[in-house]
Amino acid sequence: MIGFHPVPKPKYKRHKKTAKQRGAISTKVRKQLYERSGGYCERCGRYGHLHAAHITRRWKLKETTVNDLLHLCVWCHMWADNTKEGREWLRRRGGG
Ligand SMILES: [Zn+2]
Repeated sequence: MIGFHPVPKPKYKRHKKTAKQRGAISTKVRKQLYERSGGYCERCGRYGHLHAAHITRRWKLKETTVNDLLHLCVWCHMWADNTKEGREWLRRRGGG
């Protein structure tokens, strides 16, 4: 092998619909979320790249609205998704 030939990234966009896709966030909702947070993490106030985190998992809804989401930094999102405390915090934010 001479030279380096990076493999193109595979495209995962054609999978059948998953629960994750049913909770997909539209561009409009992302914009609303950004307008609400102003780019600051809604838990710790850190400024920077934010994730849209689902507060509750109401998959019966056809569409995820801005009220179903929190704008969280990478660290708070990991905490919320991966710790018991974080998941309970998310639930409380959802009022459920
Ligand atoms: Zn944060």
